[in-house]
Amino acid sequence: MIAAEKVVKERAVIKLPVNPIALAQDLGIEVLPKPADNQGVSGILLRRGNNFGIAYATHIDSIGFQHFSVAHELGHYFLPGHIDAVLSNGDVHASHAGFASGDRYEMEADHFAATLLMPRKLFTEAMLTAGDGLEAIEKLSAQCCTSLTATAIRFTRLTRDPMAIVISTGDRIDYCFMSEALKEMQSLNWIRKGDPLPKATATYAFNQNPERVLRADHDEDSSDICDWFGSDRSLSITEQLIGLGNYGKTLTVLTALDIEEQMKEIEEDEALVESWRPQFRR
Ligand SMILES: [Zn+2]
Repeated sequence: MIAAEKVVKERAVIKLPVNPIALAQDLGIEVLPKPADNQGVSGILLRRGNNFGIAYATHIDSIGFQHFSVAHELGHYFLPGHIDAVLSNGDVHASHAGFASGDRYEMEADHFAATLLMPRKLFTEAMLTAGDGLEAIEKLSAQCCTSLTATAIRFTRLTRDPMAIVISTGDRIDYCFMSEALKEMQSLNWIRKGDPLPKATATYAFNQNPERVLRADHDEDSSDICDWFGSDRSLSITEQLIGLGNYGKTLTVLTALDIEEQMKEIEEDEALVESWRPQFRR
């Protein structure tokens, strides 16, 4: 079992949101808000003898960010080998949580945090009544006290539907996550970090206006899978997006719920054409 799932089970967490501050305090770890002086640091893990403490940053005024920061430090506390690695040069480790660091231990602690705050069982149960697409992600983000981005990534990993999320800045794609069901579709190109945002999309038009990103505006349109993934077949998908405010980025949710029906129709049409073909060969 994944370390974070084990913690949730052992600490008998039975409903959302998971509160990592209460969880740490239960373990005898002192948790303190840290004055907003060092903007790059999300949290600190401290050791005094056999005791541990966590300080979390408050310069971003968001419970989601603070919970994630504390959960990240708990990752260092629980994950095998972390304490030895991150406290190898002393008794203080300063973290950069939020999937921005390329360091192995920071990334592992981020994944731990996402899983701790959105444990598979509770999260998939909540998904059943959350609906689809961006509305579902917004609902679950409120329910779990997690950022829209972290929630969107977790949702994409756990859904059975064909969908993808794209994070973009201006005319560039920062990254994209595809669900398993979408990855299984053939002849799709996977979007790479730094790829240009396709010009025919609502997201491209939205990002031309940074004011809308800052205001956290919503937008929605139908889109073509070819524009995003260069498929050899034109299939209609839903494109929903929201500006991520001060973060300066946009979250786009691409859902393709009826894509199998669309493919079936195309295949039937192709079969029909094929069935007529021999008559013209005479
Ligand atoms: Zn860290």
